[in-house]
Amino acid sequence: MSIDYLLQSLNPMQQEAVLHQNGPCLIIAGAGTGKTKTLTTRIAALIENGVNPNRILAVTFTNKAAAQMRERVEALAPGQSGRVWIHTFHSFGVRLLRQNAHLLKLTKDFAIYDESEQKKIITLVLQEMGQKDAKKEINQYISLISRAKDDMIDPESFAISALASNIDFKIRAAEVYKRYQNKLNAAGALDFGDLLVKTAELLKNNEDVREYYQNIFQHILVDEYQDTNHTQYIITRTLAYKHRNLCVVGDPDQSIYSWRGANIRNILEFEKDFPDAKIITLEQNYRSTQIILDSSNKLIKKNKKRKDKSLYSNKTSGEPIEVRELLTEGEEARWTAQNIANLIEDGASLNDIAVFYRTNAQSRNFEDNFRKYQLPYRLIGAVRFYDRREIKDILGYARVLVNPLDTVSLLRILNTPKRGIGKTAEEKFLEYANLHNISLYQALQRSAFVEGLTPTARRAAQEFINLMDTLRLELKVTSPTDIVNKILTLSGYWKAVEDEVEKDLEAGARLDNLQELVNAVKEYEERMARTEREASLSDFVQEISLITGADEKQDSSAGAVTLMTVHLAKGLEFPVVFVSGLEEGLFPLSSKDDDDLEEERRLCYVAMTRAKDRLFMTYTSTRRIFGKMYTNLPSRFLFESGLITEEQEGPLNRQSTVMPNYGGYKTKYGSKYGETQNRPSFKPFFAAPKKQKKYDEHGYEIEEQEGDYGAPIGCAPLGIAGEN
Ligand code: ATP
Ligand code: MG
Repeated sequence: MSIDYLLQSLNPMQQEAVLHQNGPCLIIAGAGTGKTKTLTTRIAALIENGVNPNRILAVTFTNKAAAQMRERVEALAPGQSGRVWIHTFHSFGVRLLRQNAHLLKLTKDFAIYDESEQKKIITLVLQEMGQKDAKKEINQYISLISRAKDDMIDPESFAISALASNIDFKIRAAEVYKRYQNKLNAAGALDFGDLLVKTAELLKNNEDVREYYQNIFQHILVDEYQDTNHTQYIITRTLAYKHRNLCVVGDPDQSIYSWRGANIRNILEFEKDFPDAKIITLEQNYRSTQIILDSSNKLIKKNKKRKDKSLYSNKTSGEPIEVRELLTEGEEARWTAQNIANLIEDGASLNDIAVFYRTNAQSRNFEDNFRKYQLPYRLIGAVRFYDRREIKDILGYARVLVNPLDTVSLLRILNTPKRGIGKTAEEKFLEYANLHNISLYQALQRSAFVEGLTPTARRAAQEFINLMDTLRLELKVTSPTDIVNKILTLSGYWKAVEDEVEKDLEAGARLDNLQELVNAVKEYEERMARTEREASLSDFVQEISLITGADEKQDSSAGAVTLMTVHLAKGLEFPVVFVSGLEEGLFPLSSKDDDDLEEERRLCYVAMTRAKDRLFMTYTSTRRIFGKMYTNLPSRFLFESGLITEEQEGPLNRQSTVMPNYGGYKTKYGSKYGETQNRPSFKPFFAAPKKQKKYDEHGYEIEEQEGDYGAPIGCAPLGIAGEN
């Protein structure tokens, strides 16, 4: 496609960014101004101008965003997108580390540990350190270690600063970090932080490798740059060092991942790092109505640490933003469901509607009510398909096959399905491995020498090793799909689940999921064949280790309302948006200090600016958190964005607004959608949606999800992606 054609749909400032030739370039602009669109068009224009697609690296935030970017590039430069390096930082790391594994004392088949596996390792470490009942601290250790990795702090440096701090917990954490890292190394495994740290180290310590990639990447483009952490910044800067064609786009007002180590400094000081950078600002918002923009601009202006910018929209007409107070969280969900039903009745499409909340725990009420109202919905980020017990089990086999050192996976499958290696036997094997400084797998191979085993356990271990040997032979000659099929049959796993079907209703669903896993492997194989790349079980396993809840494949053709945390909504847009739980203590979740509060405010800004045409904001006067009832004040963000005023909704006169008949409150900014009392009852017109279930990290179903009032669990780690 000609350059002229590509430029057609862009405004002059966007065109300038696309046409910018060589040298660093920063596009800094507010929400919905076409940053991502500009970035994608720039990639197509570079290709059109003769740049080899193989020499373009584009980094984005989630696998989904990466897949979308690939689609858009493909549409603009047909046949070329497959060759562009389109990644998230994490999937880019995996690709580099695989290519250079030999330099890092890693095998290409390194395991990638997610949070549940990290927990398992920390538990083993704490056991070793004789710390019992430290369950509560596990999450703290994990987040300390992750933060350290975001900032490229290794165990030694961590220990030095811990000693200097003289804080007991930090000193203990330093020991945990050291042992944790040793265990990962022994397992030939990397956690998500390592994917970045090892990549940065590889580039730093190895001149040849560094020069090789610096030469390759003639152009580097980064979306959502405001949410990069220090380690990602080091990687980007190093790679761009030679050609200096680094184009980053971002919006400091949308920096919402500082709790994951994102460093807003990276964008604010880009000009300092690259003094000759071309700076482009975009001011026209193409997404939202002026009404939505006015309120969100008003809100974000309350942040002190920011550069002011103004946004305008040509969508000057539009519906007012509707704010609603409800009595309880149940009423809030009911009101939302009823309004969505009304919107649908008036012709809106399910796919056009999204409901956002601050914490994952809030989703349950919405799910309950959507089911009642027969509204199909998709819950983004809460349950990963790949987190389900049966899927993790089978992948456990795959992981041990490609990497026998992977102890966490080995522990998972050792007695799954039950084969007579119980807890005691497991401990004996672990002890033996520790004593002889060998891996658990090797200990199993030497079961004849391990003392204190029952004959059954010894025989079972022998049979297990035989099984793995048989399967490993297959690895060389069979396709990944066939191997997974063989794992299912030869391990007896499929049969074990099948045997349960009679007595356990869930077993049938588990068989379906297993079948779905086989399909996923098949799809992967076909994708590899299309791009003429070699399919391997090891590559497949790594790819899916990077998939987060945010990336789950969604069947959008069916139509469903989207439910997600605000964090996951970044970069997306919907014609109709409901933002819920706008209460002090919930949104903002934390107002401990100014920095926290400013981040919460940015988060609210992100939420509001996702809406194209209609924005609803709800809050409740009472809310149950961990089973306790709280009386909440309306969020300060509602006041700050000018949506409610003290006179209308001062804490003192809130009682006066009660309307007993609907259990809700009167509409303050009512439109026809706000009035629910007199509408005819909603008639179901869909098949009942499949009940969505929640599982804990072991794959067991959770009855009712407890409130998680910390960081949203469904969040993608910074820039996770597997596509490619
Ligand atoms: P965010 O900050 O939320 O990531 P963004 O700046 O990346 O937003 P985009 O998602 O690229 O914005 O664009 C927002 C919407 O505006 C999209 O629907 C896009 O197609 C549309 N858009 C962008 N630029 C133009 C333009 N010049 N003409 C028409 N529509 C445009
Ligand atoms: Mg964007």
